Amino acid sequence: MTTANPTTRDDSSNPLLEPWTGEYGLPPFAAVRAEHFAPAFEAATRAHLAEIDAIAASAEPPGFANTVGALDRAGRLLDRISSLFHNLTSSETSPALQAVEREMAPLLAAHHSRVYMHRGLFARIDALHARRQELGLGDEQLRVLERYHTDFVRAGARLDGPAQKRYAEVMQRLADLTTRFGQNVLADESGFHLELKDDADLAGLPDFVRAAARQAASERGIAAVGVITLSRSHVVPFLTFSERRDLREQAWRAWTSRGEHPGPSDNRGIAAEILALRLEQARLHGYASYADYALADTMAGTQEAVTSLLMQVWRPATARAAAERAALEALALSRGESATIEPWDWRFYAEKVRQVRYALDEAEVKPYFPLERITEAAFDCASRLFGLSFVARPEIAVYHPDVKVYEVRGAGGKAIGLFLHDNFARPTKRSGAWMSSYRVQSKTGGSRGDAPVLPIIVNNNNFAKGAPGEPTLLSFDDARTLFHEFGHGLHGLLSNVTYERLSGTSVLRDFVELPSQLFEHWLEEPEVLKRHARHHLTGQPIPDALVEKLHAARHFNQGYETVRYTASALVDMAAHARTDKAVDDVVAFERAELERIGLPPGVGLNHRLTHFQHLFSGSGYAAGYYVYLWAEVLDADGFEAFVEAGNPFDAAVAQRLFRFIYSSGNSMEPGAAYRAFRGRAPTPEPMLKQRGLVEETTA
Ligand SMILES: [Zn+2]
Repeated sequence: MTTANPTTRDDSSNPLLEPWTGEYGLPPFAAVRAEHFAPAFEAATRAHLAEIDAIAASAEPPGFANTVGALDRAGRLLDRISSLFHNLTSSETSPALQAVEREMAPLLAAHHSRVYMHRGLFARIDALHARRQELGLGDEQLRVLERYHTDFVRAGARLDGPAQKRYAEVMQRLADLTTRFGQNVLADESGFHLELKDDADLAGLPDFVRAAARQAASERGIAAVGVITLSRSHVVPFLTFSERRDLREQAWRAWTSRGEHPGPSDNRGIAAEILALRLEQARLHGYASYADYALADTMAGTQEAVTSLLMQVWRPATARAAAERAALEALALSRGESATIEPWDWRFYAEKVRQVRYALDEAEVKPYFPLERITEAAFDCASRLFGLSFVARPEIAVYHPDVKVYEVRGAGGKAIGLFLHDNFARPTKRSGAWMSSYRVQSKTGGSRGDAPVLPIIVNNNNFAKGAPGEPTLLSFDDARTLFHEFGHGLHGLLSNVTYERLSGTSVLRDFVELPSQLFEHWLEEPEVLKRHARHHLTGQPIPDALVEKLHAARHFNQGYETVRYTASALVDMAAHARTDKAVDDVVAFERAELERIGLPPGVGLNHRLTHFQHLFSGSGYAAGYYVYLWAEVLDADGFEAFVEAGNPFDAAVAQRLFRFIYSSGNSMEPGAAYRAFRGRAPTPEPMLKQRGLVEETTA
């Protein structure tokens, strides 16, 4: 990806519009420049609209194939350009791409509205939907018809003319604001680093944190003994180990004030306007709040169901956090230090308590978790569960030299897709970890619409890269993140449905974290650890004693973690549940809400509203941060099926898991898919047990 030469504006030489002849239809990364996107989007949206017009104008009466099937195949040119664009703006962006992103976001939202408010097309879908039981459709056909019908209704297809016009304006403005929100967070992240000037600034830091800080300084050309960036893989270890309370406070304040600084990257007004527009969006649909609108198309269904689940963990978790805090205070006092635990102190003292209580030292664990081995571990689990193999294809160049490319082969040895593993933090990449795709699986490729389309899936992590010649060592948490994203990746790779609309991860959003969170369980299996967690220098497997310590410590600090997560989820729900007017001042609103629910002191939040990208950088998790806990009920209960079978790789259970969860995409109603896998509905007890919160709730 380069960004020079702004003169290319000629469609005929635009690589985005030419056939992509590389293997798997991968984009021609090396030829693509930022200025290719605007004209390509222009041409691709025009082509998509022409396809939609043609479906609507058909002289044939509406049938499944000429309406739903045709709609599902329409817009493939736009799909591939959008996928490339969104992947690049997330993983390898540039000022030129960011400018295109700001320019295109409202235009793409307008295009989306034109398609989903298309009177002629919706009339055909609506007519089919009304007669859906008489059409003789198969299960998957019925499901895709219902999903499209819901999509159209939820995008405003049924609104009258003036309401549709306003709705489209609201969606365009939201697209603009959510784009800027994400860009602002990235600006605050890449604009800050904490310089460690001398040995005194390194006090308490183990070798791996020093090495990462040194590496980050040299990558940025900064003459210091190290720098701490706002990447999670930097800042969390720093807060955990640094003896320098003053520096911890600086790092913590910078990390938690992203998006809250006056100036061009200020997200306070943007978040407030997004909330106001979402309330208007919901009202246009006749819902009292955005939360009601968002939850109507989820497994949870209602605010009551969500709040009831969140409160089920909130009460025991706050009690647990109070007990944890008392232990931290005692330890601080024993060191002759302040007994007031501030948010920048919690991780530091928690690590000390952990070392005393479990004799478990993060620096002792990491040498057993080199990135390469843990990647192999994830591949091996996928092999033992689903018969997959992963063949490195180093000769395939993509958008950054650090990205590893693998061909994925199914049980019969046939290629089923391509997997891109993009593991390292860099200033051009947004923070967090996520799965995405360049192309989703379907069986409707080729000119006649009956050829298989193989998925191209990418996993993004933000691990701190090891120094040149040194391995990248993961924390146990990092390793868990790798397994989590790989679980999403498998959901995309194993997808085996006919229609693109039902493919892979395009499920209801409180189901989407099930395949990812479930996959984390295999990392904790002692057998998997013994096989793959090997010391990077000696190759020796992780000692039994260390595995036992990891297990003994798994509920440690869970009060803190659960409170941080649940408070963020409750603030999300409260902000989107407003019915009278939206929030004017998101900082004051957040403070008042945390006071109302009683956030224990010294803990903090997973995400503050001014940088809560789940909610405001796109809308995927708005009124939806609860989905991780919702899915945790499913994943904890689901993994018990393997426990009951007495084998974490039990073939019969794995087969049901493949059939009903990892390969079925959105072709089944999620509750029914889960019951088909498990043989019954889920219960919350395994989740409470998993978090170590059982005693308090039953007491
Ligand atoms: Zn996830």
